[in-house]
Amino acid sequence: APAAATVTQWTRSTCVYCGVGCQMDVGSRDGKVVAVRPAEHPVNHGHLCVKGRYAFEYNHAPDRVTTPMLRDGDGGAWRAVSWHEALDHAAATLRRIRDQHGADAIGVLGSARATNEENYLAQKFARMVIGTNNVDCCARVCHTPSARALKAMLGTGAATNAFDDIEQARCFLLCGCNPTENHPIVGARIKQAVLKGAALIVVDPRRTELAEYAQIHLAVRPGANVLLFNAMAAAIIEEGLLDQHFVAQRVDGLEEFTAFSRAYAPEAVSGQCGVAAADIRAAARLYASSEPAMCFHGLGMTEHTQGTEGVMALINLALLTGNLGRAGSGINPLRGQNNVQGSAQMGCEPATLTGSQPLAQARARFEAVWGGALPATDGLDLMQMLDGAAAGKVKALWAFGYDVYMSMANQHASELAMRQLECVIVQDLFLNETARAFGTVFFPAASVFERDGTFMNSDRRVQRVRQAVPPPGDARPDWWIIQQLAQRMGHAQGFSFDGPQAVWNEVRAVWPAGAGLSYRRLETESLHWPCPQRDDDAHPGTPILHGDSFAGATRARLAQIPYVATPEQCDREYPFALMTGRGLYHFNAGTMTYRGGNAQLQASDLLDMAPADAARLGLADGVRVRVRSRYGEVELPLRISPRVKPGELFTTFHRPDLHVNRLTSPYRDRLAHTPEYKVTAVCVAPV
Ligand code: SF4
Repeated sequence: APAAATVTQWTRSTCVYCGVGCQMDVGSRDGKVVAVRPAEHPVNHGHLCVKGRYAFEYNHAPDRVTTPMLRDGDGGAWRAVSWHEALDHAAATLRRIRDQHGADAIGVLGSARATNEENYLAQKFARMVIGTNNVDCCARVCHTPSARALKAMLGTGAATNAFDDIEQARCFLLCGCNPTENHPIVGARIKQAVLKGAALIVVDPRRTELAEYAQIHLAVRPGANVLLFNAMAAAIIEEGLLDQHFVAQRVDGLEEFTAFSRAYAPEAVSGQCGVAAADIRAAARLYASSEPAMCFHGLGMTEHTQGTEGVMALINLALLTGNLGRAGSGINPLRGQNNVQGSAQMGCEPATLTGSQPLAQARARFEAVWGGALPATDGLDLMQMLDGAAAGKVKALWAFGYDVYMSMANQHASELAMRQLECVIVQDLFLNETARAFGTVFFPAASVFERDGTFMNSDRRVQRVRQAVPPPGDARPDWWIIQQLAQRMGHAQGFSFDGPQAVWNEVRAVWPAGAGLSYRRLETESLHWPCPQRDDDAHPGTPILHGDSFAGATRARLAQIPYVATPEQCDREYPFALMTGRGLYHFNAGTMTYRGGNAQLQASDLLDMAPADAARLGLADGVRVRVRSRYGEVELPLRISPRVKPGELFTTFHRPDLHVNRLTSPYRDRLAHTPEYKVTAVCVAPV
């Protein structure tokens, strides 16, 4: 309140943290952000969580980098340079690498922190200026499996419903997500709906806060999601709980799926799931008999070797019970970052162009607008880029708004790979761990409070981001930096937009489902795509997908997903299954939230251990323990917590100096390559 009293200007914008996309007013004075207050809006109804409301001090932190910098590849001291020198150096280096090793020796990583317009320009830069489809974003390490599963089965790789529906659901099936901490405004809305009578089923190895409100908590063994959802599907079919009309009208493959599902009867797989058969059946009955039932899922679903397949097994449940195409139903990934949906949707993906349009099918449309030929073959995803670096084939990486090194699983392997790179361009607010360890060029970026554009939240809603204060020193918005580098590499044409609105108009020209999302409309509305252009410029957007078709197809097909155990298994030497995730007070690599008051709310990552395990090992709450996996070791303070089961552990990965990802395994989702952050066999000993 005292800070708010000094505000001289309020600017409406969108929260920079999670994918809920809360609207807020940014209060500024003398060119500084001094307060944030919640806006009345269909997403957040006048509320913000502890991150959105209070974690803005980073914007004016004393170690904010405000000038471009260069250093030699041997990790020497950084030296401040002019934009002219930094851009010329980066352009010459990228040109040399492309000439010597080919365009595919360079990779570009878009950013969930950046706007849609900036991500669009990043992938256009990779494809038109460099000549490679080696472009990806942090969706690779979170919800690419969701997008892939939804696209494969329902035709559109995004959430089926809007947050607006929450109050209409009669039952929630929450799978591998902890919205109380990671999507707090959605978590609060779900809790309110449950307190008013909606049913709640929580599928999570941990007893999360919302699990305490659930009728049924299925504390599944980490890595066994496919088994559990196949068992629920088997129970639904066996007990005649299908939505017969919906299945007859819109679903194919029931007969074959029924035969497939018999091997997954709850009684047959209960032991492997770690869940009683009676509880699996009770959950199947509750989900199938509640109309409508709405599913939300998080990274506890996707960050597994069967991440994509786990989401497909979940989609089967919605198809069998008719929980698609109406308010309060659907399959809804909770996206972790403010614009991770947008960065992939804008084309920061190695095989799809803007609007998730497949490269092979949409190339001609883009070539007509961009005025040049696109590279024809699919590029490398983020994981493959690091593999390519380790093999000496990828030589340069440009990462903006993304601390790759801190975020990647199996950090020692990432380190070895990134050490091979000749050129690492980091574009960020601070010298993050990637910049400290590997950077050769640093471009100082503007923050979300210092630029204009749009974000796309978890439920496909596109919203404006507005500049509230000027960037400090020589910091510049990402769109400006990308254009400057493109121009220095001979591509003035196609990279001379006068601002984000002009970029967005080109996005609308190449993406038919977004053509109706004009800045004029977004000034006063937030709209869900698909929103094609209409003559009256008034398409209402599409909050609910699949009302009468699946992206044009009349029917969807049930997927038979055999369970395949992860290779990462506990044994006598490594007896605990460690899961990693995020907490309430901090965000990802901690770059923003550790620079401000949230650092006092939680000072460190903690290792959660069940009371029985702590007693058996003679460990007291708060002691420092050494956690060792087959891949590395770290030291963490112990927190004795009844939220984890005996034999399982949980920690966050926010503190840059703790490097929790030294522990995580090399295993990846079999289809999307997302790392398996949720199962690592470890042992624990006192320090
Ligand atoms: Fe920001 Fe997410 Fe919190 Fe809303 S719920 S204020 S979008 S971090």
